[in-house]
Amino acid sequence: MQIGRMVYDQIDIVNKLIESINISGNSVTNSRRRIIAEIVRKEGLFTSEELAKSLPNIGRATVYRTLRLLYEQGSVCRINIVDDHSYYTLSSSDHHHHTVCKKCNKIDEINLIGLEKSIKQFEKNINSEILSHNLEIYIICSDCA
Ligand SMILES: [Zn+2]
Ligand SMILES: [Zn+2]
Ligand SMILES: [Zn+2]
Repeated sequence: MQIGRMVYDQIDIVNKLIESINISGNSVTNSRRRIIAEIVRKEGLFTSEELAKSLPNIGRATVYRTLRLLYEQGSVCRINIVDDHSYYTLSSSDHHHHTVCKKCNKIDEINLIGLEKSIKQFEKNINSEILSHNLEIYIICSDCA
């Protein structure tokens, strides 16, 4: 794996992500290691296209599959911003939602305990398993107000 200018904290995160893929029973190929290292290095929002572009030697399908896997296991957040583009970023905590500033695109992680309870109750009411849910709250942040 090319770790080049990565700082120790980042190497730590890369190792944790690799471990979580291992635990989920998926194989960690060399390509996957490089994709994970690139995601950690990005330190912010990126689209799947941008990620694929910064890894020209790895097939797009492999990049997208790995990104999807990381998203499904909660290691990466997917955030829908203003347009139709989905942006991704490393997740720094367990299940959460986001506020998105409509002016500067600043993203913050938020926890909405009441909402999670309501969704659990709703799941019982409809007698169907909820697989996942998605919610972004769009704001004008205090810096932009
Ligand atoms: Zn997040
Ligand atoms: Zn803002
Ligand atoms: Zn939630």
